[in-house]
Amino acid sequence: MDLEKNTSQILENVAQATQQVNRSEKSVEVIAVTKYVDSSTAKKLIKAGIHHIGENRVDKFLDKYQALQDEHVIWHLIGTLQRRKVKDVINYVDYFHALDSVKLAQEINKRAEHIIKCFLQVNISKEASKHGFTVEEIDTILPELEKLEKIQIVGLMTMAPFEADEAELNAIFQQANQLQKRLQRKQLPNMPFTDLSMGMSRDYAIAIANGSTFVRIGTAFFK
Ligand SMILES: *Cc1c(COP(=O)(O)O)cnc(C)c1O
Repeated sequence: MDLEKNTSQILENVAQATQQVNRSEKSVEVIAVTKYVDSSTAKKLIKAGIHHIGENRVDKFLDKYQALQDEHVIWHLIGTLQRRKVKDVINYVDYFHALDSVKLAQEINKRAEHIIKCFLQVNISKEASKHGFTVEEIDTILPELEKLEKIQIVGLMTMAPFEADEAELNAIFQQANQLQKRLQRKQLPNMPFTDLSMGMSRDYAIAIANGSTFVRIGTAFFK
């Protein structure tokens, strides 16, 4: 594993993907998903210039948070969060990417001591195994979420099926993009809907072509 080489390759790929669709390089943030590695490896990534760190599980998130306290890190919790674990973790989180129920949002609102930037997870492909709201559900829950003053809905997060081909990936990411744009136009209080969290190691270039603003990359850093 050559972390520095992988990091510069990823940043170069991101830059290229943005240029191809006339977006500025700065419009995409790269989150390094460190769930596969220990804290010392994560620390090396920070030295290599990465400032967004993502973990999908509460226990591992807290381990990394403890170990990297002295570093300048923006913290992303990207995986499913059980309601009973909200109080253990939420006040260390800058961005939560997997908001998938109104009850979870209410628990976060109750426990949070600062405003938590949240992505609504949307299950565009309607895979039974995936969490998230359906496209149809989203409009019906917004009035409930609007009441929660500690939650800011910054955008949508989606994951494509593992076996999706390029055409399917484009279709899914494009749909997420259109939904995000439509919600942004509503100009709801506490819901800027400016961002899209989509794209992982195998599909981040396609996600960027379709408007992603946060890519969540694990494997490609650590291969
Ligand atoms: C693990 C994980 C990623 C990163 O996936 P890679 O394929 O390793 O890049 C992104 N998002 C979520 C929610 C994950 O759990």
